[in-house]
Amino acid sequence: MIRRAPRSTRAKIVQAEADQRATADLLYQLGQGDLAARLLGCMAAKQARRGGDGRVWLRRCGSAACRWCSRTRQHAGWFAALDWSRGHRRSLAAISIRRRPGQIGAAIRRLRRGLRDVRDRMARSRRRWRSVGIAGVVAGGAVWLVVLHPDVERGEVNEVLRRRWPDAAVRDVDEGAVLPEPLGLHDAVALALVPRGVDYLRVVVGLRHDDGVRHHHRAVEDIEPMPITF
Ligand SMILES: [Zn+2]
Repeated sequence: MIRRAPRSTRAKIVQAEADQRATADLLYQLGQGDLAARLLGCMAAKQARRGGDGRVWLRRCGSAACRWCSRTRQHAGWFAALDWSRGHRRSLAAISIRRRPGQIGAAIRRLRRGLRDVRDRMARSRRRWRSVGIAGVVAGGAVWLVVLHPDVERGEVNEVLRRRWPDAAVRDVDEGAVLPEPLGLHDAVALALVPRGVDYLRVVVGLRHDDGVRHHHRAVEDIEPMPITF
């Protein structure tokens, strides 16, 4: 089954086009003409497709600063996290990304490291945390995470996350939830300037694969490892 981002209203499309032009302008000003041209080319290809001839949109630029490509990747990542965790005890955790202007890449790296650190520390002191895995995406100014916690109560997940990130909100996973809008202009541009090959929109703190964990913890065995690409 292929799932896509929800369809945009006309007003939202107009806004997205204005945002994309503003992003391209800013990139030109920063001397990043190639990146700016890619964004405009992607938008033009998308607009041409809207004629209804059903042709595939071939010129996706894949940039984190692109309103369409980033939205597609966020939704793909989110649906993959939902699929990966379905049928197991899980929660949604939203944590805002604290950052200075232009520093979002570093802030996302710090948050990812922090999540891994918290999970690994807990797994060392409490065995039941060894089966905890996290997958999610950057959306708006926050990370949206599905926390898989087959052997831990949600209250404990909440308590542990809030100790480090006091604004963390842990609740039921709502499969129909709408992700927040893509990143704002300056954050998107900052991510677009990060060298290629790093996917900043995705967050995965996978299951540990050391033998001890798998051997002693049967609950983990029927959980698929998080796919590498999605
Ligand atoms: Zn694009």
